[in-house]
Amino acid sequence: MKLYNTLNRKVEDVVVNEKGFVHMYNCGPTVYYHMHVGNIRAYVCWDILHRSLMLSGYNVKRIMNITDVGHLTSDEDFGEDKLEKGAKRDGVTPFDIADYYTKSFISDFRKLNMLSPGGYEIPEDIDVHDLKRFGWTRATEYVKEMIEFIVELEKLGYAYETSTAVYFDVSKYDDYTKLSGQKIEEKLQGVRDEVVVDKEKKNPADFALWMKRVGEHENHYMHWASPWGDGFPGWHIECSVMGAKELDGNISIHTGGVDHISVHHTNERAQNFGFFGKEIVSMWVHNEFLTGKKGDKLSKSAGTGMNLEELINNGFSPMHVRYLFATVNYRIPMVFSLDALTGAKNAYNSLMKRIQQICGKCNDQTEGEIIKEYYDQFIIALNDDLNVSEAMAITNKLLSSDYLHKDIIRTIKEFNKVWGFDITDSDSKNSIGDEYSAELKDLLDRRKSAREDKNYELSDSLRDEISNLGYTVLDTADGQKLVKNATNI
Ligand code: AMP
Ligand code: ZN
Repeated sequence: MKLYNTLNRKVEDVVVNEKGFVHMYNCGPTVYYHMHVGNIRAYVCWDILHRSLMLSGYNVKRIMNITDVGHLTSDEDFGEDKLEKGAKRDGVTPFDIADYYTKSFISDFRKLNMLSPGGYEIPEDIDVHDLKRFGWTRATEYVKEMIEFIVELEKLGYAYETSTAVYFDVSKYDDYTKLSGQKIEEKLQGVRDEVVVDKEKKNPADFALWMKRVGEHENHYMHWASPWGDGFPGWHIECSVMGAKELDGNISIHTGGVDHISVHHTNERAQNFGFFGKEIVSMWVHNEFLTGKKGDKLSKSAGTGMNLEELINNGFSPMHVRYLFATVNYRIPMVFSLDALTGAKNAYNSLMKRIQQICGKCNDQTEGEIIKEYYDQFIIALNDDLNVSEAMAITNKLLSSDYLHKDIIRTIKEFNKVWGFDITDSDSKNSIGDEYSAELKDLLDRRKSAREDKNYELSDSLRDEISNLGYTVLDTADGQKLVKNATNI
C-alpha cells in the first residue's frame, strides 16, 4: 500500500513493523457535540484505509483517541476547554457531555457501517466506559501516563514550568516545523493580538503540555493532581501518550485532517521526538477538507455542517453518505451540497439494484469463485494511494461483465469488505448471507439457553469459544447476532 506522507511530501510505501503489523493512529473526535458531515468524511476515509489494508493482507493494529479534556477552542493554548464550554451550553458536567457525545459518535459510526478501530463491527449496546477493547482510547483514562511523559520531557530538558503551565520548549527541536513546512516566524503569525500570552514563556511558539488550575482555568471542572499542582493535560500530549503507549512507540500511519498539520501534529511530533529521541511515526497522512460551496468552513448556522441525523431527516440513508465519501480519494478537497449527496444516493441505489438483479438471476446456490482478474485490479487500485474512484469503476465493470453470476457475487462480497455497504440488507440477503457452521449454531443455541437460565459464567465462556472460531456474538433486540472478527473479515 502506498500513501501520501505529508512529512516527506511524497507517496511512499506503508511501513510494516518487525512484528509484521501496521500500526495506525487516527486522531479522533473531541466529544463536545455530534459529529458533522466533515468529520464523517474524515472517518469514512480512515475506515476505507483500514479495510483496504486488511483486504491487501496486512495485519493492522489501530487506535483512535476520544478527546474528553484539554482541547481548547483555539486548538492552541488559549480559549476555553471545548468540553467545559459544551457542559455550560447543555447545563451538565463535562463528564456527562463526554459520555453523551461519545455515545452519539459511536452510534453514528455504527450506522455508517464503520468498523471500530479494533477492527470489529460495533455492538448496539456498547459501553462508553469500556471502549479500549474496541480500539478507542479516552484521554481521561491516560492522565497518569501523560504526567509521567511530561516528567520525562522535563528531565530531558524539553519542558519547563511557569506559574500557569508546563510548556514544551520548541527551541530544543530544530526540526519543529518540518511537517507544515512553515517558518517558525510564520507559525507565530497565527496567534491573535487579543490573546494574553504567558510572559514567562521562553519562546512565543512554546506550547502547553499541562495547564494549571489557575487564572483563566481556575475553575476548570476536570482536574488532576500532578507534580506541578492541580491541573489538566493539553490536547497534543494526549495523542502522543496514547499513541506511544498503545502502539509501542511505533506508528506506521498517523492520520488526521489537514487542519491538524500546523499545530496539533506538529506539536505531537515534537513531543515524540523529545521523549523517544527519534521519529516514531513513519507516515503522517491527512484528509482534505469538506467545505461549503465557497470553500467556507462547514458550520451549523450556515446549514452546511449537518450531522447524520439531519442528513437522514433530509431523505438520505447512512449508506448514501458513506458512498459519497468512500468513493472520493482522501486527498481531494470536496464541496458539500445536498445535490452532491443526491448524486451519491442515485449511484448507490443503482449499484444495489444491479447486485440484486444478478443475485436474482443466480440459480446456482453453490459458492462461486473469486474472479482473479478483477480482484487483482481492485487491490492494485486501492494500494495506489487509495484510488477509490478507480476501485468503484472496477466494481461497476465487474457487475456488467460476462462472468458467471455466482462468481460475480462472490467477488463483490470480497469488494464489499472494503466498501462496507449494506448489501445483506437488500433482497440479496439470502443469496450472499453467511452460512454458519453446525458447530457455531450449536454454540449459539447453548449460549441462548445459558442466558435464559441466567448462567452468565457459561454464556461468557461460550462467547469465548465463538470468538475462537472467528466471530463476536452480539445480543441485539432480535436475538444473538454474529459478526466476523477483524482477522476473518
Ligand atoms: P474534531 O472533533 O473537530 O477534532 O475533528 C475530528 C476530525 O475531523 C479531525 O481529524 C479533523 O481534522 C476532521 N475534520 C474536521 N472538520 C473537517 C472537515 N470539514 N472536513 C474533513 N475533515 C474534517
Ligand atoms: Zn490527535
